[in-house]
Amino acid sequence: MYNFGKGDKMKITILKQGIHKWNKNKSNILDEICSTITLLKAENSKEKNIIIDTGNLGYEDEITKALKKENLNPEDIDYVINTHSHQDHCSNNYLFRNAKRIIGKSIWLQDKSHIQYNSAEDINIPGIKLISTPGHKPSHISVIAESDKNTYVIAGDAINLQAINSGKAPNQDYIDSTKKILNTADIIIPGHGPVIKDKKLEELKKAADQLEVK
Ligand SMILES: [Zn+2]
Ligand SMILES: [Zn+2]
Repeated sequence: MYNFGKGDKMKITILKQGIHKWNKNKSNILDEICSTITLLKAENSKEKNIIIDTGNLGYEDEITKALKKENLNPEDIDYVINTHSHQDHCSNNYLFRNAKRIIGKSIWLQDKSHIQYNSAEDINIPGIKLISTPGHKPSHISVIAESDKNTYVIAGDAINLQAINSGKAPNQDYIDSTKKILNTADIIIPGHGPVIKDKKLEELKKAADQLEVK
């Protein structure tokens, strides 16, 4: 479905796995929340260094340390892509001063660093494809990348295990986006929690077939 050019095999590294931790005693309080932060590292001169989602405040040191291990500084990042504009996904955008920004949202700052677009599918960055995955937010976007012969989808909050397993979705777009991602990916990097692949992915596909709008 998505054709990548020869050599478009980016190195994909999860700098931080997203967390979403409710307080044990108070069901409406989150103790900790931060999105997954993913690095796509340029492997040739044509490709770019890309960060997908930048997490919540308080994780700056963790991010810079994880980048150092990849021999990168925040200044080396060419693009920051936010799957959507929730705080837990974009609070550290400011660290990446040289990056162009692509944010899954329907209004933009009149700011040269932000790339404005009508459809995520129109954005052209070597080595990756962007797709619209509305539902969690109307303007949510996801990123497709190829690595190690696998197709990865970095899915932000468009893939939510609890929602899929509950059988209830907030809207039809959400169901459509979930199915689109499940049918595209060999490996899903969700906005919170561990990567989804193999048996887990197959189980989720079956569960997604039962999804209904609540
Ligand atoms: Zn989130
Ligand atoms: Zn969100």
